[in-house]
Amino acid sequence: MKTRILGIEGTAWNLSAAVVDEDDVISEVTETYQPDTGGIHPREASQHHAKYASTVIQKLLENIKSKGIDPKTLDAVAFSQGPGLGPCLRTVATAARMLSLTLDIPIIGVNHCIAHIEVGKWKTPAKDPVVLYVSGANSQVLAYRKGKYRVFGETLDVGIGNALDKFARSAGLNHPGGPRIEKHAENFKKYVPLPYVVKGMDFSFSGLTTAARDALEYEAMEDVCYSFQETAFAMMVEVTERALAHTGKNEVLLAGGVGANMRLRDMLDIMSNDRGASFYVPEKRFMGDNGAMIAYLGLLMYRSGSITGLKDSHVDPNFRPDSVEVTWI
Ligand code: AMP
Ligand code: MG
Repeated sequence: MKTRILGIEGTAWNLSAAVVDEDDVISEVTETYQPDTGGIHPREASQHHAKYASTVIQKLLENIKSKGIDPKTLDAVAFSQGPGLGPCLRTVATAARMLSLTLDIPIIGVNHCIAHIEVGKWKTPAKDPVVLYVSGANSQVLAYRKGKYRVFGETLDVGIGNALDKFARSAGLNHPGGPRIEKHAENFKKYVPLPYVVKGMDFSFSGLTTAARDALEYEAMEDVCYSFQETAFAMMVEVTERALAHTGKNEVLLAGGVGANMRLRDMLDIMSNDRGASFYVPEKRFMGDNGAMIAYLGLLMYRSGSITGLKDSHVDPNFRPDSVEVTWI
């Protein structure tokens, strides 16, 4: 018998629920919050999730029924327990608890960052990679060692995605800014020097974001977009390379929504090739926040006996990946 897990993601902008088994995604239903103006507003995003949670879940259950799967035979419900925006996390956790009670199946709280990693290992040939996880709120270099995913380096302030989105807003570009910056950068003429900040194995983006905003007053938009990318990405690729050297691993995996960026992929690919390491990127649907990754990590946890239970299902907006005991490797 295959294990089947329903997973719900909703840490920030994307509400997404999916059912997976060991082999593949059986069904996934997604409703995306798009701010009218500015960036993600935590309360508005959570209101969006609350408004659509029942339709998304109902649609998902209809889909699996039409494939001959009785929802009562699902093995567990998994949800993003953190890190993320508090109001969004609480909305999704409430939906997951309701499902756990009505279907009478166990509940599993999963770490959102580790879900990004595990779905990448599931959907690429990577087995034991150094991971560069780059999303809106998070930017970390991680690798598995002795029972945990260790954080080798990370941002000291904002995530790279938020830095890109914030700079984009100051340049008059709509949310999400990352893809728009990538497009403008393609037409660059020159590199504009911007602060390159790596401290030990950590990096920081807020000074870079301010300097890039200021540079817009006297430099071309295309050049500043290009220079922002070159500087920020080089910082993260440097730390990823040092983590490879330190761990002796020979695989690099890119995870998170910013991983859609082709320039970041190129830079990681070049660095990996130079070191004789393989570089892996999952299909785009598994890079940004998605329900399948939560369901899949739930599946790994379920099969290794890591059940959370209702009484421990409270959310944690600062849930660190290196606090999780990895029971499935
Ligand atoms: P996530 O939080 O993992 O869902 O990722 C969302 C972030 O990815 C947002 O900050 C987007 O601006 C960013 N993003 C999406 N596509 C791109 C791209 N092509 N280049 C840079 N950033 C991107
Ligand atoms: Mg994410």
